Amino acid sequence: MIEIRNTRAGRCPVMLCDVCGKLIRETGNVLYPDGDGPVRFVHKDCDDGSHCDGWEELDVFLFQLVYNAGADLNRGKKHTEIFEALGGE
Ligand SMILES: [Zn+2]
Repeated sequence: MIEIRNTRAGRCPVMLCDVCGKLIRETGNVLYPDGDGPVRFVHKDCDDGSHCDGWEELDVFLFQLVYNAGADLNRGKKHTEIFEALGGE
């Protein structure tokens, strides 16, 4: 799941594993539902390969999501650099 966490630099989005509930800070997998519906984010070690109708590696999925949303990566990168300079996680 994706949620907002409070940090020293302000509020920021983080991704939590839908199996163990811990923060995903390295690469993981995205598990697709049967048909339409929400995806599940998991650590690779937490992915047992069951209960899904396909999957994608997290970095590939996120790139596809940003591309399909038509998001401006340069603008997002600029805000992230400001966030990190303020001491964000
Ligand atoms: Zn996990």
